[in-house]
Amino acid sequence: MPHALLFSGPAGVGKATAAREVAKALLCAGGPAAYCGSCGPCRRVDAGTHSDLYILAPQAQKASITVEEIRDISRRLYESPMEGSRKAAIIDPADLMTVGAQNALLKTLEEPPDDTTIILIAENTDALLPTVRSRCRRVDFRRLAVEEVEDFLASQGVDKENARQIAVLSDGSFGAALELVDGTVAVSRRELAGAVMRATRKDVSALTERIASGDKPARKSLKDKRQETRALLAVLESFVVDAMRVAARSDVRTNTDMVAEISSFAEAVGLDALSALEKEVSDGIIVLGQYADVRLVAMRIVGAFAAANESANTQIEAS
Ligand SMILES: [Zn+2]
Repeated sequence: MPHALLFSGPAGVGKATAAREVAKALLCAGGPAAYCGSCGPCRRVDAGTHSDLYILAPQAQKASITVEEIRDISRRLYESPMEGSRKAAIIDPADLMTVGAQNALLKTLEEPPDDTTIILIAENTDALLPTVRSRCRRVDFRRLAVEEVEDFLASQGVDKENARQIAVLSDGSFGAALELVDGTVAVSRRELAGAVMRATRKDVSALTERIASGDKPARKSLKDKRQETRALLAVLESFVVDAMRVAARSDVRTNTDMVAEISSFAEAVGLDALSALEKEVSDGIIVLGQYADVRLVAMRIVGAFAAANESANTQIEAS
């Protein structure tokens, strides 16, 4: 394995995914030859928590990667690995390094620490110094054939007909294909979140089951159920926050296609109950990130919506 790789090519063709796969191969408990994708180190690479993998991306709002950031990562690459025998760094996008940053990186590329691999990801390799480029083994990524995207989607559990259609629409880009798949998933998330918003007691167990099973027809193995459930709860939370705006005499801002539904929910339930529901959902999103039981969290949240809706109905009947 060379000390430095440069993955170049247009956006959305899988450069970052490939960089992570290389990092997994390097850091896998079984070593590069027997790389498994599922051991502890491989999973920590996927989660971005492996202590011997440094991922350098520009800080939010910043348009460049600075000398200080490169020096910091270089210094850490010269220290011994914490978990295994190798280290890896991914700089993405590397074409956002300032010239100073590139010169700092060049020192590391000229005298690379042992058992270390640095992967640069760039759309515009012209922005890199020739001296940096020449120190890297270059791998060019291209747009993919429709069949390649189609096969990939099929391997992720998308059914044949949808996979074909999405592959054609995505024009050879994995990223675009995944966004299109997400589009179909997004529709089902909104439908399910809407059902939770309207839930009554008799719906609790069926809705809990749908949420806990990571209800997602198009994509079966790409994300785990926990992540899918968190994404669903984020949609549900956006409904509740919009309802709170309505209850506070403001307007629906996020889900403008559901103004009538959200408004009637807001009026029936009222601001106090909405605040409690919002807290319930946001707590749920947090604890799901901390290994809480998905089914228990889902049941608690659906139960809270059912209770709020039923108490609203009772008040309407009583008045
Ligand atoms: Zn592994």
